[in-house]
Amino acid sequence: MNMNNLIVCKFGGSSLLNSSQFRNVKAIMEAEPGRRVLVPSAPGKGGAEKHKVTDLLLMCYQLASHNLLFDEIFNVVRERFIQIRDELGLAIRIEQELDGVQAAIAGGAGSDFCASRGEYLCGKLLADYLGFRFVDAETVIRIRGGKADVEASSVLIRKKIGADERVVVPGFYGINEKGEFQTFSRGGSDITGAIMAAGMEASVYENWTDVSGFLAADPAIVAHSARIKSITYNELRELSYMGAMVLHEEAIFPVRDLNIPIHIKNTNIPEDVGTLIVSDSMAGEREQVVTGISGKIDYTVVRVEKTHMSEEPSFYRKLLSVFETNDIPIEHMPTSIDTISVVVATALINAKEKKIREEISIYCDPDRIVFEHGLAVIAVVGRGMISTKGTSAMLFTALAENGINVRMISQGSSEMNIIVGVSNEDFENAIRAIHDKFMKG
Ligand code: ASP
Repeated sequence: MNMNNLIVCKFGGSSLLNSSQFRNVKAIMEAEPGRRVLVPSAPGKGGAEKHKVTDLLLMCYQLASHNLLFDEIFNVVRERFIQIRDELGLAIRIEQELDGVQAAIAGGAGSDFCASRGEYLCGKLLADYLGFRFVDAETVIRIRGGKADVEASSVLIRKKIGADERVVVPGFYGINEKGEFQTFSRGGSDITGAIMAAGMEASVYENWTDVSGFLAADPAIVAHSARIKSITYNELRELSYMGAMVLHEEAIFPVRDLNIPIHIKNTNIPEDVGTLIVSDSMAGEREQVVTGISGKIDYTVVRVEKTHMSEEPSFYRKLLSVFETNDIPIEHMPTSIDTISVVVATALINAKEKKIREEISIYCDPDRIVFEHGLAVIAVVGRGMISTKGTSAMLFTALAENGINVRMISQGSSEMNIIVGVSNEDFENAIRAIHDKFMKG
C-alpha cells in the first residue's frame, strides 16, 4: 500500500441524485484532506427521481438512431442538471454543454458516447461546485478488449494529473484501442474509480454508495444479517453472487495487485464503518470463521456413474468436452470413486437435456446418467476456515437441526469455502440456519 495519503472517491448514482445529495458529497470530500480525486456516476434514480440519467440518454440515442424526435426525453435530462446547478447557486453555464450533447445525439453520435454524457455533465457540475479541476476521462482512461487497460491509463494519469492536485474524473467511459468512445458495462464507474486509484497509487479507494457495505447474507432472506467489516478480495470473488450487487465485479482487478484496499461507504450515513476489501496479506484478525454466505437456486446435477471410471484416463476429458461443445459452463464437479456429478445452471441445459444425455452415452459409455433438477447451491465462505477445526461439523449440524437434506458437498482446495447443494425449497431455510449458527452462536 502506498502511503501518500491520497484517497480516490467514487460516488454512485444514488449518491448524486439531486442537489441535496451533491451537498452531502461535498461535505464528505471536505471532511478529509486526502480526498483529492472524485469519480462520479451519472445522477441515478430514487426519491422524486424516477429514472437514471444513463437510461434517459440511452433512450435518446435509440430514438435518434431511428430518426425519431428525442427532445422530450432530453429535456428531462436538461432540467435535471439545470435544477441541480440552480439549487446549488452555481454560475457554470451548463446549458452550453447540454446543447452540445443534444447536437451530438442529433448528429448521429454512437450509443456509448451518448450513454457517457451523464457522467461527463455530472463531473462538470461537481468540479465547479468543489473547486476541483475537471479532467475528462477521454484523456486518461483507456479500454482494451472491453476491459480496463490499467497500464496505459496509469501512464496517462501520471502524465496529466499532479500528485497533489484535486480533480474530478467522470466514471464509466474512456477511449478504446480503435480511438473510439467506449463505456464499461453498466455500473462501470466503479471500474474507473479503481483505475484512478491504481494510476494515482492511492492509499485507499473509497466507493460511496447507498448501503453501509456488505451483509453476511442476503437481507431479503436473513432479516438481521450481520455486517461484514472486512473481507478479502478472494473471499469476495467466492461470494460474487452477493458482492456484484454492491460493487462491479471488475473493479477489484486494477487495485488488487497493488494492495490498495477498497472501502465501501454509505453517503447517507458516512459515520458507518462500511466494509473494507483487502488482500489476504493485509487482512487483520478475523472476527468470524464464516465471512459470508451466498447462493443461487435452479441448478441441475448431471450424475454420471461408471464402475472404475477413475482408471480410465480419458473419461473426464470426454465427459467435459460434451459440456464444452454445447457451450454449457460447469459450476461445480464433486466426484466419488465411480460417480461424477456435473452441476450446471438449469436454464442453460434445459432445452438440451436429451442431446446431452445421448452424447454422454455415445462418448463415455457410462452405466447410468441421472439428471436431477431443482438444486440450490450455497457457498459458505471464510478465510478463517483453514485454521478452525470443526467448521464443517458446525455447518452440517446447523442443516440437520433444521431438517435440511444435503444433496451435494464440495470444498474448494483453498479451504476458504464449503459449497453445499440443497433442494430449491430448502434454500432460504438453509441460508438462515447457517447464518444463525455462525453469526450468533
Ligand atoms: N451510470 C452508469 C450506469 O447507470 C454507470 C455507473 O453508474 O456506474 O450504469
